[in-house]
Amino acid sequence: MSRSHASIQNTATVIQRLARRYTASGDMDLGNPKDTLIGVLLSARTKDAQVLKIFPAFKRRYPTFASLARSTPEAIRQQIATIGLNRGKSKAIHELSKIILREYSGKVPDTRDDLMRLPGIGRKGANCILSYVFAQDTICVDTHVFRIAHRLGWSKGKTPDKVEQDLQQMIPKRLWREINRTFVHFGRDVCQPRKPQCWRCPVADVCSYRHKTPEPRS
Ligand code: SF4
Repeated sequence: MSRSHASIQNTATVIQRLARRYTASGDMDLGNPKDTLIGVLLSARTKDAQVLKIFPAFKRRYPTFASLARSTPEAIRQQIATIGLNRGKSKAIHELSKIILREYSGKVPDTRDDLMRLPGIGRKGANCILSYVFAQDTICVDTHVFRIAHRLGWSKGKTPDKVEQDLQQMIPKRLWREINRTFVHFGRDVCQPRKPQCWRCPVADVCSYRHKTPEPRS
């Protein structure tokens, strides 16, 4: 199915089917703005499971932006030592905590421009925070969304920004927030990176992937 054949109705059907099957919230939707912001930052180029493993202790040690701002990048780094890129991330967490206290009265900002001014937060992270925390209609293109959008034939974009633009054109806005949450769960469960399990895929009938996998013989 080429992109021109992937009608808005088809894209909506896919997302609605996946939303019915995958009802859990997103891994980095951590229940409040501060934790979600820090979780999204820590999860860059790191598996969500690794972040979730260290997060309870991190949160006990640093319950507020003020506690992070009072600390030092090196002390913060010790709490996230198992996380990839921990040197840069600890500096970013320390700095953004000071910025949020100084410029946003201690509250996580709710616009993309303001979020992208914070160290460690790019467009993908900002979109995740806007959709998870502020219920805004954004599309967070992470590695799962990028891969699955290509397999479904919805985008040939070479960058997350281009994929985001393509998805914005073909998916009804009311469903944008569902894309990241459902595709992450679907990408782990069925449409896995190396070998998708197409034989048990609930959207195989509308997927244009050329190398669909058959059910293995037992
Ligand atoms: S049919 Fe296969 S490649 Fe297509 S969405 Fe399903 S699991 Fe992914």
